Amino acid sequence: MQIIHHGARTGVTGSCHEVRISTYGLLVDCGLFQGEEAGRTLNIEFPIEHIKALLLTHCHIDHVGRLPWLLAAGFRGPIYATEATSALLPLMLEDGLKIHLGLDKSQCEQFTRLVKLLLKPIPFDCRAQLVLPDGGLVSICFRPAGHILGSAYIELVLPDGENVIFSGDLGPYSTPLLVDPQSPKQVGTLVIESTYGGKYHQPIDYREQQLAEIIERSMNDGGAILLPAFSVGRTQELLFDIENIISRTLPLKSRKEDAATNWHQLPVILDSPLAIGITEQYITFQRLWAKEAKQRLLSGRHPLSFKQCITVNQHSDHLAIVNRMKVTGEPAIIVAASGMCEGGRIMNYLEALLPDSRTDVILVGYQAKGTLGRSLQSQPDSVEIQNKNIKVNATVHTMSGYSAHADQFDLVKFVAGIEQGPQQIRIVHGDLSSQRALAKKLAAVKPGCEVIIAAEEGS
Ligand SMILES: [Zn+2]
Repeated sequence: MQIIHHGARTGVTGSCHEVRISTYGLLVDCGLFQGEEAGRTLNIEFPIEHIKALLLTHCHIDHVGRLPWLLAAGFRGPIYATEATSALLPLMLEDGLKIHLGLDKSQCEQFTRLVKLLLKPIPFDCRAQLVLPDGGLVSICFRPAGHILGSAYIELVLPDGENVIFSGDLGPYSTPLLVDPQSPKQVGTLVIESTYGGKYHQPIDYREQQLAEIIERSMNDGGAILLPAFSVGRTQELLFDIENIISRTLPLKSRKEDAATNWHQLPVILDSPLAIGITEQYITFQRLWAKEAKQRLLSGRHPLSFKQCITVNQHSDHLAIVNRMKVTGEPAIIVAASGMCEGGRIMNYLEALLPDSRTDVILVGYQAKGTLGRSLQSQPDSVEIQNKNIKVNATVHTMSGYSAHADQFDLVKFVAGIEQGPQQIRIVHGDLSSQRALAKKLAAVKPGCEVIIAAEEGS
C-alpha cells in the first residue's frame, strides 16, 4: 500500500489523496485550490485509468470542487460519501460551477445528474465493500467527524487487512449542533489534517454569550447587523445560537424587558439561496444532530427555522431588502455569504450600509490576507467595493469561537483516544509550521509511531 498526495500535502486547499493498492487506486477527496494556491491548474494532472473509486470526506469545496475536472478527465467510477454529504454535494457543486465556470442552470443540472448517478450514499458507521478487478475486497466505513453536516473520517480495511484512516477535516469537540468526533479503536496508518495543528481556539462555551452582547449593543442604535458567513456550517451554527438567545430572553422580566422585546421583534434575514438549501438539509438530517440540539427539538423549538427567521431566495427580493435597509435603517440581523466578504450577496449590503454609522458588521470566521473581510477588521476609513470607494462609518466587530475545525488540543485528543495504533501518522492539510507543531505533540502521545510531515517530503 502506498499513499500519494495529489493536493493538500502542504497548504489547506485542494485536498486529494490516493491509496495505491497493487495496480489500483482509490482517491480520497478531489478539492479545489483556493486562496494563495488558486493559481494552480485545476486539470487532473495525474493518471486516473487505475482509479477505481472516489471517496469523499465532506462537501466543502476544497475537498470536492475539482470533481468536474475529474469527470472531464474521464473518471466514471463510484463516488462513496455519507448520505448527508450526498444530499449536500449537488448544491455545493452547482454553486461552484456557476461561480468558477459560469455554467447556466441547465448545464449545472446536466452535470449534477451525472454526479448523482455515480454517488453511492453510505450511512454512518455502516460498512460498504468495494470489489477490485482482481477480486480483492476493500471495506469502507464513514465515521462522524463533527466538522459540518455529513462530514466523516474514512476507515478503510485493505485486501491484506491493513487499516488506513483519512481524517478529512475534523471538527472541534463540544459544539452544540453536531456530534463530537469519536476516536477510532484501531488504526494502522492515519492521514490527519493539521489546519489548526499549531493553534488553540477560544472556548466554544462563551461564543453565544459574546454574540448576544455584541448584538444587544448594536440594537441600541438601530441599523443593520451584518453577519457575513459561509453557507455551510457557519450559517447554521449562527442561526442555532441566535434562536437560543431569542428563546432565552423570553422569560426575562423587569429591567431586561426592553432587551427581550427588542430581541423578539428583531428580524433575522437569511439572504443566500445556497445557505437556505443547505439549512434545509441540516433540518432533514436532524437525526445526525448532537444531543443538545435534539433536546431543543423535543421541547418544541425549531433551532434552524424559527419564526423570526426570514429567508430570501429571489435576487429581486434581495435587492429590495438592501434598498429598504439603506433607506429606513431598520434594525435587522442579516446573514449572507461570503464569509470573507469576497463576493456573494453580502457585498451589496456592505456597499449600501457601511457608510451608515448605525450599521454593525460582525466577522465570525477566519479572514484570509488580501480579503475585504481582513481589511474591515482594521476598521479603515474607507474600502473599495465593486470598484467604488465606500466610506466605513459602520462598526466592525471580530469574534472567534465559530471555527468548524479542530484545534491542536482536539487533534491530539482524537489521536490519543485511539486504543490500538497507529504505526504511522501522515500529517497533511496545513502549512509547514502547523504540521511541525502537531507532529511534535503527536509523537509525544504516540511514542514509537512514525510521524511523517507531508510538507517536508518530496512531491
Ligand atoms: Zn472542510
